[in-house]
Amino acid sequence: MTTTYIAILASKGLEHPPTETDIRALGAVWSRGRRVWMAPDETADAIRVLLTGRAACSDCGAPSHGYERCPDCRRGVITGARGR
Ligand SMILES: [Zn+2]
Repeated sequence: MTTTYIAILASKGLEHPPTETDIRALGAVWSRGRRVWMAPDETADAIRVLLTGRAACSDCGAPSHGYERCPDCRRGVITGARGR
């Protein structure tokens, strides 16, 4: 079984920045060269929430897994309803 790693960029100026220990506990690895966290597929959503401080969709408030918008609202953006 192979684990896929996803690059996640930490947001700057978070009110409650996560500790490196918290992020590593979820299996993430710091990529010195790329200056991003590499998060395993299984815990990537949780790590993304920690690193970006975004837990809820800015449009509808549904869980957004660390993205600005939830999957439904992102789909809306892609299919033409232009947001910010
Ligand atoms: Zn939404």
